[in-house]
Amino acid sequence: MNLILLGPPGAGKGTQAVKIVEKYHIPHISTGDIFRANIKNGTELGKKAKEYMDKGELVPDDLVCEIATTRLLEDDCTDGFLLDGFPRTVYQAEKLDEFLEKHGKKVDKVLDIAVEKEELMQRLINRRVCKACGATYNVKNMPPAKEGVCDKCGGELMQRADDTKETVENRIEVYNSQTMPLVEYYEKAGNIAHIDGAIGLENVFNHIVSVLGE
Ligand code: AMP
Repeated sequence: MNLILLGPPGAGKGTQAVKIVEKYHIPHISTGDIFRANIKNGTELGKKAKEYMDKGELVPDDLVCEIATTRLLEDDCTDGFLLDGFPRTVYQAEKLDEFLEKHGKKVDKVLDIAVEKEELMQRLINRRVCKACGATYNVKNMPPAKEGVCDKCGGELMQRADDTKETVENRIEVYNSQTMPLVEYYEKAGNIAHIDGAIGLENVFNHIVSVLGE
């Protein structure tokens, strides 16, 4: 099962990804996570990506495509994968299709999660992430039991550098102008499912399962 999670920042892609990979046993590939790991480890790739990420802009296509396709060649992707945050431009989608075709594969389903801008802003600005295990919280409507501390592992909670109000606005704009055209791209391919991302995470997941099958 080769899947893509599409949707604006804050739509809940990361949260749903955790549940999808658990149920369907496929690897979760988040280009954003790969970049953040590189930034943490101080690699050259991390330094390059950070320049763009801090402003809420997209990392250049060729760099992202190289990272994503290299990851897709790893053994754990043989029987399927869940792409989260890639592709983000029509160019990336075309490159992905070329790559998959070359390897006798295709995209099976694109899950397009939609949420209104106001709700996205609230979710992102109030989001906190555990430095140790990556669990996410919302200081307004899903706070941890103890401020700044992860309920799951006791790790320290932090705010992502690109979750500030200004950067979030830019990320949503970038999504609308550069990533939204992908909806039409996959509409034409006939493999997109539209999911309302504002109905609560369990309901969103149930909808996804009804699309993918048990
Ligand atoms: P995410 O964690 O998916 O929200 O990604 C965080 C940031 O990483 C984005 O705002 C971009 O700067 C960069 N990024 C992640 N995936 C891509 C991609 N497919 N194309 C370009 N930039 C990306």
